[in-house]
Amino acid sequence: MKLLFERSRTGRYESILPPCDVEEVTFEEKYLRSEAPRLPEIAEVDLGRHYTELAKETHGVNNGFYPLGSCTMKYNPRINEETAALPGFTGLHPLQGEKSVQGALKLLADTEKLLAEITGMDRLTFQPAAGAHGEYTGLLLIRKYHQMQGHPERNEIIVPDSAHGTNPASASMAGFKVVAVPSDEKGGVDLDALRAAVGEKTAGLMLTNPNTLGIFDPNILAITEIVHAAGGLCYYDGANMNAIMGHVRPGDMGFDCMHLNLHKTFSTPHGGGGPGSGPVGCKAFLADYLPEPVVKEEAGAYHLEKPAHSIGKVRSFYGNFLVVVKALTYILMLGREGIPAASENAVLNANYLMHQLKADYDVAYADICQHEFVLDLSRLKEETGISAMDVAKRSIDFGIHPPTMYFPLIVHEALMLEPTETESRESLDHAAEIFHTIHEEAVSEPEKLHQAPHTTMIGRPDEVAAARNPVLRYRWEA
Ligand SMILES: *Cc1c(COP(=O)(O)O)cnc(C)c1O
Repeated sequence: MKLLFERSRTGRYESILPPCDVEEVTFEEKYLRSEAPRLPEIAEVDLGRHYTELAKETHGVNNGFYPLGSCTMKYNPRINEETAALPGFTGLHPLQGEKSVQGALKLLADTEKLLAEITGMDRLTFQPAAGAHGEYTGLLLIRKYHQMQGHPERNEIIVPDSAHGTNPASASMAGFKVVAVPSDEKGGVDLDALRAAVGEKTAGLMLTNPNTLGIFDPNILAITEIVHAAGGLCYYDGANMNAIMGHVRPGDMGFDCMHLNLHKTFSTPHGGGGPGSGPVGCKAFLADYLPEPVVKEEAGAYHLEKPAHSIGKVRSFYGNFLVVVKALTYILMLGREGIPAASENAVLNANYLMHQLKADYDVAYADICQHEFVLDLSRLKEETGISAMDVAKRSIDFGIHPPTMYFPLIVHEALMLEPTETESRESLDHAAEIFHTIHEEAVSEPEKLHQAPHTTMIGRPDEVAAARNPVLRYRWEA
């Protein structure tokens, strides 16, 4: 496929600008570029075809099944886009005075209240732009808390080995030392190992629950108690709230702060589909440290204010405001009954698919799962030479987005599947059939799988090189 730059022909254009009807200003010589920028020149029809061609090569939630574990690739309802596109929202400027944006501030305050209800937290900030950014922000709250208590020496964060990979990374970015604790044979936190890990240096624990094995830790109350008794705080990675929302609340399980991924659980698009939002919630005793500004309601009017001991800003202005509009739309559309029903169906779908795949594949920790489950393909690899990578690549040929591969790290040859609640029973049955076919091929025609995918422009890129040396700029020839 040709790039826009390669399709460019001098003199082609797709729009005619109206004559300039405002006063022309010119800048000082030193600010002016010496040559016109080399932009592609292309006619509208060719531009349209270019993007359509690109779209055809792309797989998204609107193309087909997308069981990317841990990512909660659920359907993004159209009505979310409609509300977020209302001119009253899109025309706002972040520097407008409080008086002229009362509706927007009310929207932030209302969403905060609803999310506080869902999570059991007291206050939230919408500043963080992603889940990992939320983790970082929550950890800064924990750090600030210990500093204010006169315990700056508490600099260790305990992270179970079944946590999401971003957890240890965020803890270390926030300046903490990461202490890993292993999982027990059922995939939960090993309580004895946790008891041995806590101490006077413990700042807190970060827990992904349900964890990356799709397991809700049955000892959750004991875990938060052990950490609190040692003087630490408990951080909940709530990116996976899709399994539990409307049923249990991190705030009731003893967690002091947490983040949510609006771009997962609350149905806003992600992965190239749009900016994210990772709001952080906390209990009242941490609220004074939240990033500024927070919205405060007083006698029917809304104000922005700086919390007394704020950690400062973690992003400009108020976060990704329009993403909050979409999430609020989703919450209001589902309502009190719909929120828990969505979780129930997410869990049901995951268990339904897991049960079907069990006939061909080994499931790591095969109890009842939450929103996702992990296949362990070690035995398949031993017997046929077919790896998790081969199976994932082959699924592309059947119109399925590959599951998450080689994660979590504690399972070898892992494939992690998360169907989400928005997949119908027919889609799940169809996916199960495809994975069954792939398993048959692994035995009968392994070479076909080693070479997969066969239907895409690029099959097996050098992923390390692509990540380390991405070519993001077009180099014009001469
Ligand atoms: C997705 C995810 C994150 C990170 O969220 P980003 O928005 O990608 O930064 C953190 N924890 C868990 C459990 C997740 O699934």
